[in-house]
Amino acid sequence: MNTHHSPLSTHQEDTIVALATPNGIGAIAVIRLSGLDAIAIANSVWKGKDLTRQASHTIHFGHIVDVDLVLDEVLASLFVAPRSYTRENVVEISCHASGYIIESIIKLFIKKGARSAKPGEFTLRAFLNGQLDLSQAEAVADLIASNSKASQQVALQQLRGGFSTQLQALREQLVNFASLIELELDFAEEDVEFANRDQLKNLIHEITKIVGRLIQSFELGNAIKNGVNTVIAGRPNAGKSTLLNALLNEERAIVSHIPGTTRDTIEEVLNIQGINFRLIDTAGIREATDAIEQIGVQRTMEKISQSALLVYVFDAAEITTEELNSDIESLQKPGISMLLVANKADLLTDAQLTALPHGDKLTIISAKEKQHIDELKQRIYSSSIKDQLSGDETMVTNIRHLEALQKTEEALVRVLGGIDGSITSDFLSMDIKQALHYLGEITGVVTTDDLLENIFSKFCIGK
Ligand code: GDP
Repeated sequence: MNTHHSPLSTHQEDTIVALATPNGIGAIAVIRLSGLDAIAIANSVWKGKDLTRQASHTIHFGHIVDVDLVLDEVLASLFVAPRSYTRENVVEISCHASGYIIESIIKLFIKKGARSAKPGEFTLRAFLNGQLDLSQAEAVADLIASNSKASQQVALQQLRGGFSTQLQALREQLVNFASLIELELDFAEEDVEFANRDQLKNLIHEITKIVGRLIQSFELGNAIKNGVNTVIAGRPNAGKSTLLNALLNEERAIVSHIPGTTRDTIEEVLNIQGINFRLIDTAGIREATDAIEQIGVQRTMEKISQSALLVYVFDAAEITTEELNSDIESLQKPGISMLLVANKADLLTDAQLTALPHGDKLTIISAKEKQHIDELKQRIYSSSIKDQLSGDETMVTNIRHLEALQKTEEALVRVLGGIDGSITSDFLSMDIKQALHYLGEITGVVTTDDLLENIFSKFCIGK
């Protein structure tokens, strides 16, 4: 196990190089060098001002040359250690984005002593050099992957250290607690209690409450980061595909008159107020008559069980009360919210409309005439997002963090039980250390090489 306490420990032995922009042809590409020799290596293939004598945070025009051959006209941005992303010397070369030029420049840097960066290695160095803690480093990847306003905001909040600050405060309180208990251990012979047990209990209660709230925030945090899996289900011809199109406002799924033609599942993403709902249209639910249809129905049930929200659509002009009740009963699954949608309201008489059951779970729409689609969207949103998004509260979005928090909570519960059961200080101390350990795993106060490898190998090269 490694502990990275010293923000001064640097990892500049190797100078690493990678393309920081996407592969492919474009106006400009950025090649990044980081490490002790970054500036010297760039300067060794540079025609222009002496880069080794320039101030940090300056940009210079020049040429990259391989002996006499000019490879490109470029701009070099200089960041002198420790004032850079990695806290090492960093040079960013903005060149023309031709695959040939990029490859030639990177090869040249490697010839001059740099080596290819591994996935996430720039961010790993930023972490090892104390620029970011581990949860902030993970937020960098989340920010790059963010695809909605809410997911971008949550990642940015984590990157700025909101989550870390909160965890740091929790850790400090626990450390104080632990040191009082340790003191008792030193005086074990004399059977004294330095740490007032009631005060200790209150403190652990407080901390457990905060940890519990963070654990709870995962449901929303996960919805924001990964979207909410939403299944649209119903009998053939209920209007599922038409509804999907109305929700997406585009002609995407194939709409047909023949029952059961939506054979496979179609997935589309609907963004409602910054949250992505992954809409899955499925084959109709009914007694399957042929093999293909059967697969479709089975898949529907599988998709429902993997979802958080089920939108059940029925043809309000055709369905009988018995059919409706039996569908609702067979579709209800624990842990999955269900919204009922009475479709084809345009075909109904006023009397039929008033006869429909009412309630906040039922929305009456016409998918074809695009009536009450916004109302349905609002219901879809509020059935999944119960908490208000204030934007500045701390939210857990990462399953690794969730698991560490759950283990922290378990250890804290043991501490509470221990105080009540008047167990000896040395056992209390062990459980507190466990809690500290798991909290520390989130920010990377405690890490293992495996954990780092696992996290950073999922980054792209160049980040
Ligand atoms: P699916 O099998 O559930 O996907 O149903 P479709 O979306 O393919 O629709 C079946 C038929 O019902 C099509 O002819 C649609 O045009 C029609 N339909 C769908 N929604 C409505 C509606 O709100 N009103 C009316 N009048 N027809 C609808």
